Amino acid sequence: MNDTTINLNNLGGLAFSYSVLCERKFWLFENQIQFENTNENVKIGKEIEDNYYLRENKNIRIEGANIDFFKDGIVYEVKKSSRSKEFAVLQIKYYLYLLSKKGVQDASGVLKIPEERVTEKVELTDEDIVKIEEQLEKAKNILNKPIPKVERKKICSKCAYYEFCFVEE
Ligand code: SF4
Repeated sequence: MNDTTINLNNLGGLAFSYSVLCERKFWLFENQIQFENTNENVKIGKEIEDNYYLRENKNIRIEGANIDFFKDGIVYEVKKSSRSKEFAVLQIKYYLYLLSKKGVQDASGVLKIPEERVTEKVELTDEDIVKIEEQLEKAKNILNKPIPKVERKKICSKCAYYEFCFVEE
């Protein structure tokens, strides 16, 4: 992918959180090298989200980002467990950022983890906006370079790209 093909307005929420989580994961995902469906953890998470959202269809799209559930000015994100909570919060803040860029300033977010009975409010602060814009710049630089090298992290063993990254071990 070169600079002319990059339009960060099209970056989805999941891709944005990947850019923070792992540069290589982000690069692979954005270059359409995706194994997400084969990973059991991702499948379970997706099932929970799908079942939750089936009750009401309140899906909206802003540029390239797809917000699964937006109702009464609130962005909802549903996750399987609190293990990925930090990134779910980040995803919500990114959606709130996109909404604010479209003039929707008073939206807020809610993270739900049904299996742990967690409901947490998420707000977008001025500090978040600065961080998101810095991260978007960083994301653009990642995509302008060749695939990032493998760097082992705690999350690797649960990552859909694990076999792709560690095939020779
Ligand atoms: S396995 Fe690890 S290094 Fe490879 S993409 Fe996933 S998180 Fe990144």
